Amino acid sequence: MTTTPDARPTPDDVRAAAEILHGAAHRTPVLTSRLTDAELGATVLVKAENLQRTGSFKFRGAFHTLSRLDAGRRRAGVVAYSSGNHAQALALAAQLQEVPATIVMPQDAPASKIAATRGYGARIVHYDRYTEDRAVIAAELADRSGLTLVPPYDHPHVIAGQGTAVLELLEDHGPLDALFVCLGGGGLLSGSLLAVQALSPGCAVFGVEPEASDDGRQSLRAGRIVSIPQPRTIADGAATRHLGDLTFPIIAEHVTDVLTVPDDALITAMALFASRYKVVVEPTGVLAFCGMRAAIAADPERFAGKRIGVTVSGGNVDLDRFASLVGTG
Ligand SMILES: *Cc1c(COP(=O)(O)O)cnc(C)c1O
Repeated sequence: MTTTPDARPTPDDVRAAAEILHGAAHRTPVLTSRLTDAELGATVLVKAENLQRTGSFKFRGAFHTLSRLDAGRRRAGVVAYSSGNHAQALALAAQLQEVPATIVMPQDAPASKIAATRGYGARIVHYDRYTEDRAVIAAELADRSGLTLVPPYDHPHVIAGQGTAVLELLEDHGPLDALFVCLGGGGLLSGSLLAVQALSPGCAVFGVEPEASDDGRQSLRAGRIVSIPQPRTIADGAATRHLGDLTFPIIAEHVTDVLTVPDDALITAMALFASRYKVVVEPTGVLAFCGMRAAIAADPERFAGKRIGVTVSGGNVDLDRFASLVGTG
Protein backbone atom coordinates (compact mmCIF):
# COMPACT_ATOMS: atom_id res chain seq x y z
CA MET A 1 0.00 0.00 0.00
CA THR A 2 1.48 3.28 -1.03
CA THR A 3 0.28 6.45 0.59
CA THR A 4 1.43 9.65 -0.88
CA PRO A 5 -0.91 12.26 0.50
CA ASP A 6 -1.08 14.65 -2.42
CA ALA A 7 -1.79 17.82 -0.48
CA ARG A 8 0.77 20.48 -1.24
CA PRO A 9 2.76 21.30 1.91
CA THR A 10 2.75 24.84 3.32
CA PRO A 11 5.09 27.00 5.44
CA ASP A 12 2.98 26.06 8.49
CA ASP A 13 3.68 22.38 7.79
CA VAL A 14 7.41 23.12 8.06
CA ARG A 15 6.87 24.82 11.43
CA ALA A 16 4.82 21.85 12.63
CA ALA A 17 7.53 19.45 11.45
CA ALA A 18 10.11 21.46 13.41
CA GLU A 19 8.13 20.85 16.60
CA ILE A 20 8.00 17.12 15.95
CA LEU A 21 11.74 17.00 15.19
CA HIS A 22 12.65 19.00 18.30
CA GLY A 23 14.80 16.72 20.45
CA ALA A 24 14.91 13.97 17.79
CA ALA A 25 17.00 15.61 15.06
CA HIS A 26 20.14 17.58 15.85
CA ARG A 27 19.88 21.33 15.59
CA THR A 28 22.98 21.39 13.40
CA PRO A 29 25.58 24.15 13.72
CA VAL A 30 25.98 27.05 11.32
CA LEU A 31 29.60 27.34 10.19
CA THR A 32 31.37 30.54 9.21
CA SER A 33 34.80 31.37 7.82
CA ARG A 34 36.27 34.86 8.04
CA LEU A 35 38.59 34.00 5.18
CA THR A 36 35.65 33.06 2.94
CA ASP A 37 33.73 36.19 3.89
CA ALA A 38 36.76 38.38 3.16
CA GLU A 39 37.42 36.63 -0.14
CA LEU A 40 33.82 36.84 -1.36
CA GLY A 41 32.90 40.22 0.14
CA ALA A 42 29.77 38.77 1.75
CA THR A 43 28.64 37.06 4.94
CA VAL A 44 28.33 33.33 4.28
CA LEU A 45 26.40 31.12 6.73
CA VAL A 46 26.73 27.37 6.18
CA LYS A 47 24.03 25.07 7.60
CA ALA A 48 26.02 21.91 8.30
CA GLU A 49 23.66 18.99 7.71
CA ASN A 50 26.64 16.70 7.25
CA LEU A 51 26.55 16.78 11.07
CA GLN A 52 22.89 15.66 11.17
CA ARG A 53 22.07 12.16 12.48
CA THR A 54 23.08 9.51 9.87
CA GLY A 55 25.18 12.21 8.18
CA SER A 56 22.58 14.00 6.07
CA PHE A 57 19.41 16.11 6.21
CA LYS A 58 17.42 13.04 5.04
CA PHE A 59 16.90 12.10 8.70
CA ARG A 60 14.55 15.09 9.07
CA GLY A 61 12.10 14.05 6.37
CA ALA A 62 12.23 10.37 7.31
CA PHE A 63 11.62 10.91 11.03
CA HIS A 64 8.84 13.41 10.42
CA THR A 65 7.06 11.16 7.91
CA LEU A 66 7.15 8.15 10.25
CA SER A 67 5.84 10.19 13.15
CA ARG A 68 2.78 11.16 11.10
CA LEU A 69 1.73 7.57 10.28
CA ASP A 70 -1.26 6.13 12.12
CA ALA A 71 -0.85 3.24 14.57
CA GLY A 72 -1.83 0.55 12.08
CA ARG A 73 0.68 1.62 9.48
CA ARG A 74 3.40 1.97 12.09
CA ARG A 75 2.78 -1.62 13.24
CA ALA A 76 2.85 -2.94 9.66
CA GLY A 77 6.10 -1.13 8.88
CA VAL A 78 7.66 0.92 6.11
CA VAL A 79 9.69 0.22 2.99
CA ALA A 80 12.08 2.34 0.91
CA TYR A 81 14.39 1.72 -2.00
CA SER A 82 17.72 3.48 -1.81
CA SER A 83 21.36 2.63 -1.48
CA GLY A 84 22.18 6.06 -0.15
CA ASN A 85 21.36 8.53 2.57
CA HIS A 86 17.59 8.01 2.51
CA ALA A 87 18.06 4.33 3.42
CA GLN A 88 20.19 5.06 6.46
CA ALA A 89 17.95 7.93 7.55
CA LEU A 90 14.78 5.87 7.33
CA ALA A 91 16.42 2.91 9.07
CA LEU A 92 17.49 4.98 12.09
CA ALA A 93 14.23 6.95 12.26
CA ALA A 94 12.30 3.65 12.20
CA GLN A 95 14.49 2.14 14.90
CA LEU A 96 13.97 5.18 17.14
CA GLN A 97 10.20 5.03 16.62
CA GLU A 98 10.04 1.22 16.86
CA VAL A 99 8.60 0.86 13.37
CA PRO A 100 9.82 -2.15 11.33
CA ALA A 101 11.73 -0.97 8.23
CA THR A 102 12.60 -2.83 5.02
CA ILE A 103 15.15 -1.34 2.64
CA VAL A 104 15.45 -2.55 -0.96
CA MET A 105 19.13 -2.28 -1.97
CA PRO A 106 21.16 -3.51 -4.95
CA GLN A 107 23.18 -6.70 -4.34
CA ASP A 108 26.33 -4.81 -5.27
CA ALA A 109 25.77 -1.77 -3.02
CA PRO A 110 28.91 -0.83 -1.04
CA ALA A 111 29.35 -3.17 1.92
CA SER A 112 29.74 -0.19 4.27
CA LYS A 113 26.31 1.15 3.30
CA ILE A 114 24.63 -2.25 3.67
CA ALA A 115 26.29 -2.69 7.07
CA ALA A 116 25.30 0.80 8.25
CA THR A 117 21.67 0.28 7.23
CA ARG A 118 21.51 -3.16 8.83
CA GLY A 119 23.21 -1.71 11.93
CA TYR A 120 20.17 0.53 12.43
CA GLY A 121 18.04 -2.60 12.56
CA ALA A 122 16.48 -2.51 9.09
CA ARG A 123 15.71 -5.65 7.09
CA ILE A 124 17.55 -5.55 3.76
CA VAL A 125 16.03 -7.02 0.59
CA HIS A 126 18.57 -7.33 -2.22
CA TYR A 127 17.87 -7.06 -5.93
CA ASP A 128 19.85 -7.31 -9.12
CA ARG A 129 20.07 -3.83 -10.54
CA TYR A 130 20.65 -5.12 -14.06
CA THR A 131 17.60 -7.39 -14.27
CA GLU A 132 15.13 -6.18 -11.65
CA ASP A 133 13.22 -2.94 -11.01
CA ARG A 134 13.54 -1.79 -7.40
CA ALA A 135 10.33 0.26 -7.55
CA VAL A 136 8.39 -2.85 -8.58
CA ILE A 137 9.97 -4.91 -5.78
CA ALA A 138 9.14 -2.25 -3.19
CA ALA A 139 5.57 -1.92 -4.49
CA GLU A 140 5.10 -5.71 -4.25
CA LEU A 141 6.40 -5.72 -0.67
CA ALA A 142 4.08 -2.85 0.12
CA ASP A 143 1.06 -4.67 -1.35
CA ARG A 144 1.83 -8.10 0.04
CA SER A 145 2.76 -7.06 3.59
CA GLY A 146 0.83 -3.81 3.96
CA LEU A 147 4.04 -1.79 4.22
CA THR A 148 3.97 1.96 3.62
CA LEU A 149 6.39 3.16 0.96
CA VAL A 150 8.38 6.21 2.08
CA PRO A 151 9.73 8.01 -1.00
CA PRO A 152 12.97 10.01 -0.79
CA TYR A 153 11.55 13.38 -1.87
CA ASP A 154 8.08 13.47 -3.42
CA HIS A 155 5.93 13.38 -0.29
CA PRO A 156 4.46 16.34 1.66
CA HIS A 157 5.73 15.13 5.05
CA VAL A 158 9.21 14.50 3.64
CA ILE A 159 9.28 17.99 2.09
CA ALA A 160 8.08 19.64 5.33
CA GLY A 161 10.72 17.74 7.33
CA GLN A 162 13.56 18.72 4.97
CA GLY A 163 12.45 22.37 5.22
CA THR A 164 13.27 22.45 8.93
CA ALA A 165 17.02 22.76 8.25
CA VAL A 166 16.65 26.16 6.61
CA LEU A 167 13.93 27.12 9.11
CA GLU A 168 16.54 26.64 11.86
CA LEU A 169 19.12 28.66 9.92
CA LEU A 170 16.66 31.57 9.62
CA GLU A 171 15.56 31.29 13.25
CA ASP A 172 19.15 31.33 14.47
CA HIS A 173 20.56 34.00 12.15
CA GLY A 174 17.64 36.09 10.91
CA PRO A 175 16.58 36.89 7.35
CA LEU A 176 18.99 36.39 4.44
CA ASP A 177 19.49 38.11 1.09
CA ALA A 178 20.25 34.91 -0.81
CA LEU A 179 20.17 31.16 -0.18
CA PHE A 180 21.84 28.34 -2.14
CA VAL A 181 20.43 24.79 -1.84
CA CYS A 182 21.52 21.58 -3.61
CA LEU A 183 18.94 20.02 -5.91
CA GLY A 184 18.28 16.35 -6.65
CA GLY A 185 14.60 15.39 -6.59
CA GLY A 186 13.82 18.69 -4.90
CA GLY A 187 12.72 17.67 -1.40
CA LEU A 188 15.29 19.88 0.31
CA LEU A 189 14.83 22.79 -2.09
CA SER A 190 11.03 22.83 -1.99
CA GLY A 191 11.03 22.54 1.82
CA SER A 192 13.61 25.33 2.02
CA LEU A 193 11.44 27.55 -0.19
CA LEU A 194 8.55 27.06 2.25
CA ALA A 195 10.80 27.95 5.20
CA VAL A 196 11.95 31.09 3.37
CA GLN A 197 8.32 32.06 2.74
CA ALA A 198 7.75 31.79 6.50
CA LEU A 199 10.78 33.66 7.82
CA SER A 200 12.61 35.53 5.04
CA PRO A 201 10.20 36.25 2.18
CA GLY A 202 12.52 38.67 0.38
CA CYS A 203 15.36 36.15 0.05
CA ALA A 204 16.50 35.03 -3.42
CA VAL A 205 16.76 31.22 -3.52
CA PHE A 206 18.96 29.29 -5.96
CA GLY A 207 18.92 25.54 -6.57
CA VAL A 208 22.25 23.98 -7.55
CA GLU A 209 22.51 20.80 -9.64
CA PRO A 210 25.36 18.76 -11.07
CA GLU A 211 25.87 19.81 -14.70
CA ALA A 212 25.30 16.22 -15.89
CA SER A 213 22.01 16.06 -13.99
CA ASP A 214 20.40 19.35 -15.06
CA ASP A 215 16.81 18.09 -15.27
CA GLY A 216 15.71 20.69 -12.71
CA ARG A 217 17.05 23.55 -14.78
CA GLN A 218 15.49 22.08 -17.92
CA SER A 219 12.17 21.65 -16.11
CA LEU A 220 12.21 25.23 -14.90
CA ARG A 221 12.85 26.48 -18.45
CA ALA A 222 10.21 24.20 -20.00
CA GLY A 223 7.55 24.86 -17.35
CA ARG A 224 6.97 21.11 -16.89
CA ILE A 225 8.83 18.13 -15.37
CA VAL A 226 11.58 17.04 -17.79
CA SER A 227 13.04 13.51 -17.34
CA ILE A 228 16.61 12.73 -18.37
CA PRO A 229 18.49 9.40 -18.74
CA GLN A 230 20.30 8.19 -15.59
CA PRO A 231 23.04 10.85 -15.18
CA ARG A 232 26.69 10.13 -14.39
CA THR A 233 28.17 12.46 -11.78
CA ILE A 234 30.25 12.15 -8.61
CA ALA A 235 27.34 13.91 -6.85
CA ASP A 236 25.39 10.65 -6.52
CA GLY A 237 22.92 12.12 -4.00
CA ALA A 238 21.65 14.50 -6.68
CA ALA A 239 21.81 12.13 -9.66
CA THR A 240 18.03 12.02 -9.98
CA ARG A 241 16.27 11.73 -13.33
CA HIS A 242 13.41 14.11 -12.62
CA LEU A 243 11.73 16.31 -10.04
CA GLY A 244 8.55 15.18 -8.27
CA ASP A 245 4.89 16.02 -8.84
CA LEU A 246 4.89 17.84 -5.47
CA THR A 247 8.37 19.35 -5.51
CA PHE A 248 8.23 20.77 -9.04
CA PRO A 249 5.32 23.21 -8.63
CA ILE A 250 6.78 24.67 -5.41
CA ILE A 251 10.16 25.11 -7.08
CA ALA A 252 8.71 26.50 -10.32
CA GLU A 253 6.67 29.06 -8.41
CA HIS A 254 9.22 30.27 -5.87
CA VAL A 255 12.81 29.58 -6.93
CA THR A 256 14.89 32.46 -8.26
CA ASP A 257 16.95 30.24 -10.58
CA VAL A 258 18.61 26.83 -10.89
CA LEU A 259 22.39 26.78 -11.46
CA THR A 260 24.61 23.89 -12.49
CA VAL A 261 28.21 23.03 -11.60
CA PRO A 262 30.59 20.55 -13.27
CA ASP A 263 32.16 17.67 -11.34
CA ASP A 264 35.69 19.10 -11.47
CA ALA A 265 34.50 22.27 -9.72
CA LEU A 266 32.84 20.08 -7.08
CA ILE A 267 36.13 18.35 -6.36
CA THR A 268 37.90 21.69 -5.95
CA ALA A 269 35.09 22.86 -3.67
CA MET A 270 35.35 19.71 -1.50
CA ALA A 271 39.02 20.39 -0.85
CA LEU A 272 38.47 24.10 -0.24
CA PHE A 273 35.55 23.40 2.09
CA ALA A 274 37.58 20.94 4.14
CA SER A 275 40.42 23.40 4.55
CA ARG A 276 38.24 26.41 5.34
CA TYR A 277 35.66 24.79 7.61
CA LYS A 278 37.64 21.76 8.89
CA VAL A 279 34.94 19.27 8.00
CA VAL A 280 34.73 16.52 5.41
CA VAL A 281 31.69 16.48 3.16
CA GLU A 282 30.54 14.17 0.36
CA PRO A 283 30.60 15.39 -3.27
CA THR A 284 26.84 16.09 -3.28
CA GLY A 285 27.26 17.93 0.00
CA VAL A 286 29.25 20.80 -1.50
CA LEU A 287 26.95 21.44 -4.50
CA ALA A 288 25.39 24.55 -2.99
CA PHE A 289 28.73 25.91 -1.69
CA CYS A 290 30.23 25.38 -5.14
CA GLY A 291 27.26 27.01 -6.90
CA MET A 292 27.37 29.97 -4.51
CA ARG A 293 31.04 30.61 -5.32
CA ALA A 294 30.36 30.41 -9.06
CA ALA A 295 27.40 32.79 -8.79
CA ILE A 296 29.44 35.36 -6.87
CA ALA A 297 32.37 35.03 -9.29
CA ALA A 298 29.99 35.65 -12.20
CA ASP A 299 28.35 38.71 -10.64
CA PRO A 300 30.24 40.02 -7.57
CA GLU A 301 28.26 43.26 -7.39
CA ARG A 302 24.95 41.49 -7.02
CA PHE A 303 26.16 39.78 -3.84
CA ALA A 304 28.47 42.44 -2.38
CA GLY A 305 27.90 42.91 1.35
CA LYS A 306 24.96 40.45 1.34
CA ARG A 307 24.00 37.81 3.88
CA ILE A 308 24.09 34.46 2.11
CA GLY A 309 22.93 31.06 3.38
CA VAL A 310 24.31 27.77 2.05
CA THR A 311 23.13 24.23 2.83
CA VAL A 312 25.79 21.56 3.12
CA SER A 313 23.64 18.48 2.75
CA GLY A 314 25.68 15.43 3.70
CA GLY A 315 28.99 14.03 4.83
CA ASN A 316 28.82 10.34 3.94
CA VAL A 317 31.97 9.65 1.99
CA ASP A 318 34.64 7.03 2.73
CA LEU A 319 37.91 8.73 3.63
CA ASP A 320 39.86 6.87 0.95
CA ARG A 321 37.36 8.04 -1.69
CA PHE A 322 37.61 11.59 -0.36
CA ALA A 323 41.41 11.42 -0.47
CA SER A 324 41.51 10.01 -4.00
CA LEU A 325 39.02 12.63 -5.26
CA VAL A 326 40.83 15.61 -3.78
CA GLY A 327 44.19 14.16 -4.74
CA THR A 328 45.88 14.04 -1.36
CA GLY A 329 45.93 10.24 -1.15
C1 LIG B 1 19.25 13.34 -1.12
C2 LIG B 1 20.41 14.26 -1.10
C3 LIG B 1 20.42 15.44 -1.87
C4 LIG B 1 19.30 15.81 -2.81
O1 LIG B 1 18.11 16.08 -2.10
P1 LIG B 1 16.70 16.17 -2.82
O2 LIG B 1 15.72 16.41 -1.73
O3 LIG B 1 16.48 14.89 -3.56
O4 LIG B 1 16.78 17.31 -3.79
C5 LIG B 1 21.51 16.28 -1.75
N1 LIG B 1 22.56 15.97 -0.94
C6 LIG B 1 22.58 14.85 -0.20
C7 LIG B 1 23.77 14.61 0.66
C8 LIG B 1 21.50 13.96 -0.24
O5 LIG B 1 21.54 12.84 0.51
